[in-house]
Amino acid sequence: MKKLLVLLFISAPAFGQDKLEVISMEETRRIEATLSSDEMQGRRTFTLGIEKAGQFIAAEFEKIGLKKLGNSNSYLQSFAMIRPKTTAVKATMNGNTIDPKKISISSVEKSITVSEKSGYEIATIARGANFINEWRKMMTSTKNTIVFFDSTHETMMMRVGQRGGQLYQNQPSVIFVSQNEKPSSFSIEATQEITEMPLSNVVGIIPGKSKANEYVIFSGHYDHLGISSRNMKDNDSIYNGANDDAAGTTAMIMLAKYYKALNQNERTLVFAAFTAEEIGGFGATYFSKQFDPKQVMAMFNIEMIGTESKWGKNSAYITGFDKTNMGEILQKNLEGTGFMFHPDPYPDQQLFYRSDNATLARLGVPAHTISTAKMDQEPHYHKASDEIGTLDMDNMSSIIRAIALSARGIVAGKETPSRVDTSTLR
Ligand SMILES: [Zn+2]
Repeated sequence: MKKLLVLLFISAPAFGQDKLEVISMEETRRIEATLSSDEMQGRRTFTLGIEKAGQFIAAEFEKIGLKKLGNSNSYLQSFAMIRPKTTAVKATMNGNTIDPKKISISSVEKSITVSEKSGYEIATIARGANFINEWRKMMTSTKNTIVFFDSTHETMMMRVGQRGGQLYQNQPSVIFVSQNEKPSSFSIEATQEITEMPLSNVVGIIPGKSKANEYVIFSGHYDHLGISSRNMKDNDSIYNGANDDAAGTTAMIMLAKYYKALNQNERTLVFAAFTAEEIGGFGATYFSKQFDPKQVMAMFNIEMIGTESKWGKNSAYITGFDKTNMGEILQKNLEGTGFMFHPDPYPDQQLFYRSDNATLARLGVPAHTISTAKMDQEPHYHKASDEIGTLDMDNMSSIIRAIALSARGIVAGKETPSRVDTSTLR
């Protein structure tokens, strides 16, 4: 009897300070169930379903008492994407007319007139070069650019041209021309139809007490695949995305609740639900541009934590483990708790580059994704059957508590992970 009383006496106050009880399974389930309900229609970017989900997340932020980012008067971080459609192209190279099919335009302008005198950057992609790498570099250029590429890359150009159908507002124009020799003079005239498509991330913050200019980001993506009758099974056409990534979004909201209750953050905590992950990571990319990367001390991106990891309960993995010492810091903080975070066991799948952490990681930020998904055997991944009934809500709440515990030193400003050496990235 006595012994038990003493134990209670010791453990009860510690538990109270921990505030870990804030991350309850009931509350975790309520949020997860709402986000993955049929009412949200699979949360596809540019649909009413995702708008509803965004409103729900914003209302949760309001209830928690999060502040808005910067001068914003809304939790919705709204921006537009541009869908251009090239309607006419006329072009000459060294005075000779060329087939418009040899030209691929990536531009948000309605009318384009370019010659060697227009001040465009001029680039080339040689035969034998890695076309995809070069294309990616050109597409992220900050200047209007014309790219002459060797005709051996035409098939690849067609493939990526079909994918790159969505652009940012103010994105520089990049024009690709299949020409084996760089011409000394050229002229290109084109007209385009432009459609503006609005979309929003949802962002809230808890300002830091003494290091307000040092940011720690917690995030998950709230978009998913929507409704499709493809592969329809049991009359279910709604892709609820309960694990991908209502689970990560739920975790992010629960962590906001937790850190607000704990009220000990010296750094500013940013909570973000990203849109448009599934169609190219556009939400995270726009979000990342709102920060000076040097001021972002860490990013915890959370993806698919609703099922048991390959090691069983109370364990998860961290992508890009060897890129910074953030994983070691988190591991150390979990010592003796019964939780374990491992390095990503699926390095071949390049998960570090495939989620919303990648944009900030490419700018040097220790930005990692935490997940439990068994990428070699997750039967509901990108299927209509990814529903809350397939999730282990008890384990999921435990994983969220583990993230909360592991991050406390970073949140308190006592621990600072090393930066990503961007020269090691592919
Ligand atoms: Zn996902």
